[in-house]
Amino acid sequence: MPSACPSRCVLFHNRFAGFGFGWTVVPLDNLLEQLETNARSGPTRIPVVLAVALDQSYDYLVPDDLELEPGCFVMVPFGPQSRIGVVWDAPVGKPGKQIDPSKLKTVESRLDVPPLPLLSLRFVEWIARYTLSPLGMVVRMMMSARAAFEPSKPRYGVTLVEDVPEPPRMTPPRKRALEIAADCAIRVKSALAAEAECSTGVIDGLVETGNLVEVMIPEKKPPRPDPAHHTTEFTPDQARAVHTLVSAVDGANFSVALLDGVTGSGKTEVYFETVARTLERGRQALIMLPEIALTDQFMRRFEQRFGCAPVEWHSALSGPERGRVWRTAASGEARVVVGARSALFLPFKELGLIIVDEEHDPGFKQDDRVHYQARDMAVVRGNLGDFPVVLASATPSIESHVNARTGRYRHVVLPGRYSGAELPKVTAIDLRKNPPYKGNWLSPILVEAVAETLAAKQQSLLFLNRRGYAPLTLCRSCGHRVDCPQCTAWLVEHRFRGRLHCHHCGFSIPLPERCPKCSDAGSLIACGPGVERVAEEVTERFPEAKLALLSSDLIPGIIEMRQIIREIEAGEIDIIVGTQMVAKGHHFPNLATVGIVDGDLGLSQGADLRAGERTFQLLHQVTGRAGRALAEGRGFVQTHMPEHPVMEAIISGDREAFLEREITARRSGLLPPFGRLAALIVSARDKETAQLMARDIAHRAPPSERIDVLGPAEAPIAVIRGRNRWRLLVRAPREIDVQAYLRAWLDSLPPLKGDLRLTVDIDPYSFL
Ligand code: ADP
Ligand code: ZN
Repeated sequence: MPSACPSRCVLFHNRFAGFGFGWTVVPLDNLLEQLETNARSGPTRIPVVLAVALDQSYDYLVPDDLELEPGCFVMVPFGPQSRIGVVWDAPVGKPGKQIDPSKLKTVESRLDVPPLPLLSLRFVEWIARYTLSPLGMVVRMMMSARAAFEPSKPRYGVTLVEDVPEPPRMTPPRKRALEIAADCAIRVKSALAAEAECSTGVIDGLVETGNLVEVMIPEKKPPRPDPAHHTTEFTPDQARAVHTLVSAVDGANFSVALLDGVTGSGKTEVYFETVARTLERGRQALIMLPEIALTDQFMRRFEQRFGCAPVEWHSALSGPERGRVWRTAASGEARVVVGARSALFLPFKELGLIIVDEEHDPGFKQDDRVHYQARDMAVVRGNLGDFPVVLASATPSIESHVNARTGRYRHVVLPGRYSGAELPKVTAIDLRKNPPYKGNWLSPILVEAVAETLAAKQQSLLFLNRRGYAPLTLCRSCGHRVDCPQCTAWLVEHRFRGRLHCHHCGFSIPLPERCPKCSDAGSLIACGPGVERVAEEVTERFPEAKLALLSSDLIPGIIEMRQIIREIEAGEIDIIVGTQMVAKGHHFPNLATVGIVDGDLGLSQGADLRAGERTFQLLHQVTGRAGRALAEGRGFVQTHMPEHPVMEAIISGDREAFLEREITARRSGLLPPFGRLAALIVSARDKETAQLMARDIAHRAPPSERIDVLGPAEAPIAVIRGRNRWRLLVRAPREIDVQAYLRAWLDSLPPLKGDLRLTVDIDPYSFL
C-alpha cells in the first residue's frame, strides 16, 4: 500500500503498482496520472534517451534488482558500446522501428547522479522540438559536467589528534607542522608540508606517531547567500522597479519583465532584490551574463549584497569544479548560480527565477551543434517552471522591445543614472573632414581629447571591434592578397604573435618575409587597422602613458581578464585599447573619454538584419562606459557617414527614434519578431555537390502561400574549413508553426550522401 509522507508525497513500490520503476516519490496530486502513464508502458520496459545525436527514446528492460525512476541516468548497451542515457517518463521522439520485445536489451547500471527533474525532461523536449535538434543532443547539453557522472573520488587530508604526547623525536620541521596543525583544520598532506616547509615524509612520520590522523575531506558546500545581508536604499524610480519585480516573484507564476535602464541606472541593484525575494521564498535563482561580463567586480557586488559569493559557472572552471556545480544545482545546495548561457542547462532542483543580464548580447545565441538563443530559452524555462524571468539591458533587443510594447512583457524602466551623472556627450568625428594623420588611425580631434584626459589624470578607452594588427596583407609588387587556403577570407595579421591567422577556421602561418605569390622580399604591407595597430599608435603618441590592450586572442581566459579589469578599476591604466571585450558590464570609475575608432565597421555587414541594431547597441554600450561616476564623460565616434541613422541616434542619444525606425522596417519586411526566420545551410567539400543539393532541397520545399523560401544563394563566406556553403532562408509570418513546416520538408528529403551536411538554424543571428 502506498504510505503517505508528511510533505504530501507518496512513497510506494512500483512493482506493487504493476510497473517496473522501483521506489519512487511522487507528489500525491500527480499520483493517478503517473500510475496511468506507467501502467501503459508495460511491466519492465522503460524508455531511455541516449546522449547521442538521435531523436527518439529506446526501450530497455529493467533488471529486477535495479530501482529506476524517470530522469535518472543509466548506462545502457547501444550497438557494441555502453552509452549514458536518461530514463524518460514516456516514449518520445520520432518512433523508429518497433523492436521485438524478446530482443530488448537490459539496462546495465544506474549512475550515482541525482536524477534530472521532470521539468528538465520537458525542457529538453521543448528545445529539441523548437530547434529541430535531436533529443539526444539536447540531453548532452544537460550533461555538460562530465565529472558529475564519474564516481566522486573522496579526498583525504590530515588533522591533529589532540591530547597525544609529543613525538619522541621532535625535529624543527615536525614542530612547525604540528604548530600549523594546532588549529585542527583538515589539510591535504602536500599543503601542510608546503606550509611547514618540509617534505611529505615528515607528515607521514607524524601520522605514524599518532599525532596526525588521516581523515576524509568533506565536500565543500556552497555558502548560502543571505537575502537580508545588506539593505539598499533605493531612489523613487528604483523603488518602483523593485516593487514591480518583487511582486512578480511573489506572484509565483510565469511572467517576463524587461528591465530597461541606461548604464549605471542601478539595474543590477534592482534585480538583486528579486534574487533576494526568490531566496526568501525557498527557491533557487539563476543569473545569466555574457561570459565576458562574469568579472570579479560582479562577484564582489553580489557578495556585498548577499554576504557570500554566488556559485559560478563558466568556461574557466576545472572538470571537478563543473561536476560540483552540477551536483549542487541538482541537490539545491547552490542557491544562486551566476553563469554563461550553458548554465541554463544545469539540473536545478527548485529554480524560481532567471535573470538574463545584457539580454541583447549576441553571445547568448549558440551557433554550433544545437543552435539556440539562450535568452529565449530562459523565457521558455520560466514558462515551464511557472516562475518569473527578468531581462535586463541598457540597449534591449528589438525583439524584447516589441514584446514590451505589445504588453507581452512588463516594461520596467529606470530613466537616469544613479550617480546623477549625465550620459556622456557623444560627438561624431567626420573622417572625410578630419582624417587621421597619414598612416595613422586616430584623427587629430581624438588624439587631442586623449591628451587632455591624460593631463587630467583620467582614463581613455579606444574601441575597435577588430582583433589583430591588420585585417588584410597585400603585396606591393604583385597586388596579391594573402588569404586562407581553407576559407573565403583574408588572413589577419597578429603582429604580437608574428603570425597570420584565419578568424574562421583557426588556420595560421608565421608572418611571411616574402610574398607567397611573387616571392618579392619585404613587399608585404599591412592594410587597415586592428586593435594591435591602434595600440601601436597610442604607444608612439603617448609613450609615457600606461596602456592595456584587451582582445580575446591576447588574453588567455577569464582569470587573466579579471586581473586586467582589476588594474583598470584601480586606476593603474591610463589608456585602454580594446575590442568588444570592453563593452560588457564593466564599471570603470575613472574613465572619462571613449573613442570609437571605426564607427562604421559593423554597418558594412549588409546581409545581417541586425547590423544596425547591433552597431547601435555596441556603440551605445561602449560610449556609456564613460563618466559613470564622474561629473562628465564624453564619447567620440570616428565615421565616414555621420548622417547614417545609427550614427545620428548615437550622437543625439535619441534611442526612441532609432527604435521606431528599426521596428517599422522589421514589421514591413516581416522580419523578427514580426516574422519567423530559419536558415538552412548546405555544405560539402565539392562546390557543385553543395550547390546541386541546395537546389534540390529548395525544389522540395512544400508549397505554401504564406511561407517564403529564399535562395539557395552562395553564403557570404562561401568556403569555411574547405567546405563550400549554400544558404536557404525561410521566412514565415509569426503565427505560422515554422517548425512543423520544416519537419515535413526535412522528412521528404532523401538521406544526405557522402560528406553533404545540412544545418538548420532557427532564428538565425549569423547570415554569413
Ligand atoms: P546598471 O546595472 O544599470 O549598469 P548598477 O546596478 O551597476 O547599474 O549601478 C551603477 C552604480 O551605482 C553601481 O556602482 C551601484 O552600486 C550604484 N548604485 C545604483 N543604485 C544604487 C543604490 N540605490 N544605492 C547605492 N548604490 C547604487
Ligand atoms: Zn580559414
